[in-house]
Amino acid sequence: MDKMEMAALDAYLNRVYKIIVLLIPAYCVCAAASITFMQASGWYPPIDGTLLALFDASTLVYLAVGIYFIRTGFGADGIVRPDKLRAAKITMAVIIVIQWNAISYLWPFTDFWAYFLLFTIVEAFFFDPKLVALTSTAIVVSLAISWFLGSDMLLPAQDELFAMNLMFRVVGLGLMLLSVNVITYLGGKFLVEELEKHANYDTLTHLLNRRSLDTHLQAAHALARAGQSDFCLLLLDIDDFKQVNDTYGHDCGDEVLKQIARVISTCVKKDDFVFRWGGEEILVLLKAGEDRAAEAAERIRREIKAARVLYRDETEVSVTVTIGLAPYREGASVQDMMDDADAKLYYGKRHGKDQIIRALPPKGPEGA
Ligand code: GH3
Ligand code: MG
Ligand code: MG
Repeated sequence: MDKMEMAALDAYLNRVYKIIVLLIPAYCVCAAASITFMQASGWYPPIDGTLLALFDASTLVYLAVGIYFIRTGFGADGIVRPDKLRAAKITMAVIIVIQWNAISYLWPFTDFWAYFLLFTIVEAFFFDPKLVALTSTAIVVSLAISWFLGSDMLLPAQDELFAMNLMFRVVGLGLMLLSVNVITYLGGKFLVEELEKHANYDTLTHLLNRRSLDTHLQAAHALARAGQSDFCLLLLDIDDFKQVNDTYGHDCGDEVLKQIARVISTCVKKDDFVFRWGGEEILVLLKAGEDRAAEAAERIRREIKAARVLYRDETEVSVTVTIGLAPYREGASVQDMMDDADAKLYYGKRHGKDQIIRALPPKGPEGA
């Protein structure tokens, strides 16, 4: 796989991952340190020493978990691994909820409610609305349960302003939670989705690039293996494209590539995927059986051959493509299918081009 420049989204997630998996444990350490300090200085009514020691020890565990995520989170390409990112988000959310509960029971004094927002706000950096919604719901539910079980948290002094004070606190907390959730939702929708588009699409052809290829291939492969839906790969390479570049210039070549991408996109269904695989090689993932895929491939071949690309209103260029078709066969891996498509494409190139190769001839003396 070619070395790609790190997408802005990956760079952002890398940094957020590193910060959050350490920041949340660091908050826990701060909470433990300040509560222990209060205990030692006798500023608040004393709390059970054994429980406090356990509480302090648990924060060291969280810190170790954070360090573990930092050390194991990155792939060979330096980008945070999607499975680790997911696991880290869930783990950090669980730590937040445990910590909130631990504090409510260990240290049930009224004014801790003011830290309510702190327990979800850093998660917002992930711009993952589901994560923030789930965590904040879990904290609200924990808070409600802790009232019934005897924690004083959130409750103001029992004087004549009690009802009014309580209402202020509840409304304030509600608005804080609403804001965090809205910020996360909007950030996810308009910033991250936009970055994702840039990260996953090729800028010249607007086809998907290799970044998202693996995910889509694995998903299609899993469905096929479960017998739920068939799929095929088409590997397509423009014939004699070097000659187009040499004759009309690289800019014209780019224009041809763009048009070819457009033609292919119109020849496939909405749930099929078209990737720019290499320079002028395109990979199509078709959610179809072999015969329907062969029809689609033939449609693509025909449409491309018929297309006339007009460059700068004067040069008319047309090209042909050779296509290797690899259907899913039981037991085949994604790599097997890629190799199959590649071998067929290569065979097609050596035997006339402008054609679709569905099967390789049995190996004769001539070889393939
Ligand atoms: P054939 O595939 O039929 O064997 O011949 P070919 O001339 O197409 O050979 P090959 O596929 O190996 O060559 C790829 C050429 O495509 C080389 C490079 O100049 C050109 N190419 C690759 N990417 C781009 C691109 O983004 N823009 C332009 N203009 N040309 C590209
Ligand atoms: Mg070529
Ligand atoms: Mg090529």
